[in-house]
Amino acid sequence: MSNRLGFFTDIAIDLGTANTYVYVPGRGIVLKEPSIVAVNTSDGQVVAVGTDAHAMLGRTPPGLMAVRPLKAGVIADFDLTERMLVHFIKKAHATSRWGRFRLVIGVPSSLTSVERRAVHDAAHRARASEVYLVEEPVAAAMGAGLAVASPVGNMVVDIGGGTTDVVVIALGGVAARTSLACAGHSMDEAIVQHVRKHHNLLIGDRTAEQLKIVVGSALPVTTPTRVEVKGRHVGEGLPTTVSVTDFDIQIALEGTVRQIVQAVRETLERTPPELSADISDQGIVLNGGGSLLEGFDDRITRDTGVPARWTADPLGSVVLGAGRMLENLDLLKKWSAQRVAA
Ligand code: ADP
Ligand code: MG
Repeated sequence: MSNRLGFFTDIAIDLGTANTYVYVPGRGIVLKEPSIVAVNTSDGQVVAVGTDAHAMLGRTPPGLMAVRPLKAGVIADFDLTERMLVHFIKKAHATSRWGRFRLVIGVPSSLTSVERRAVHDAAHRARASEVYLVEEPVAAAMGAGLAVASPVGNMVVDIGGGTTDVVVIALGGVAARTSLACAGHSMDEAIVQHVRKHHNLLIGDRTAEQLKIVVGSALPVTTPTRVEVKGRHVGEGLPTTVSVTDFDIQIALEGTVRQIVQAVRETLERTPPELSADISDQGIVLNGGGSLLEGFDDRITRDTGVPARWTADPLGSVVLGAGRMLENLDLLKKWSAQRVAA
């Protein structure tokens, strides 16, 4: 949105552990890139950010390192988080004139107050005049069009790359929440370990992620399929191809899936009874890339007895919700003032 002089543009950002999204009112989602930075280890210079850095993941030569600054929902590297954020803000502003602007940032709800402060300060250094931080699952609820301000309770389960956030929202507040560092990336790691242990094959995280997306499942497999997987043989050290079944992958993912389902159950157990009743009427709302694992909706329904469904756009809801907040400043001030209970 431009001001009267036409030289500032407010923006909304979903600063996810896996992907960053940027939304500009009137223009929609203008940027979607992996939250990854490639750094030269000898002088600390940033070599690439986002999509370019993602292409280097697991392939960097000595002296180069591709890192996720927000690994597991905590800021693993403050300086790189800031440089990544500034890079994305500048890129999103490329077509408008560079001036002062308002910024809403969706962050994992597991961030500590120190980490929130760091994101806040970084955004100010990127010349944002007003900065508001909102919890990602709350923004997702907004983006999904849930009536967050109504007395009726809603549960949102946001499964990202590094974190899973479960929140119960009613009357514009968070009535119960759980955050765990177990989500899409943990699934990838579980596949890497399983394939190494049972097939003597070393594979990278990107191959594991592809296996998860193509044949992974949160429910027992009914029609077995085989896929060829390329990697390095553990003993011989040479490139090898191994045939793996989707059953294998499902077994590998089971521990992670069970932890996430358990977090949903525990949050339901801590939810006040009236809101519980609402949730069983409304259903559990799934969001985030990790929730796209085949059968996650049915698995949650099976293990909690509450029907689960996805938001219309599990990857875009957070940034769309943050964008909606930009257009409603009162709501924004209310939400961003809420802090995660220590
Ligand atoms: P974050 O909010 O933490 O940045 P996202 O919501 O962007 O995370 O989700 C990223 C995660 O979603 C990654 O671990 C990715 O592998 C996973 N993912 C994306 N699509 C699928 C899919 N179809 N099936 C399973 N996992 C998926
Ligand atoms: Mg997210």
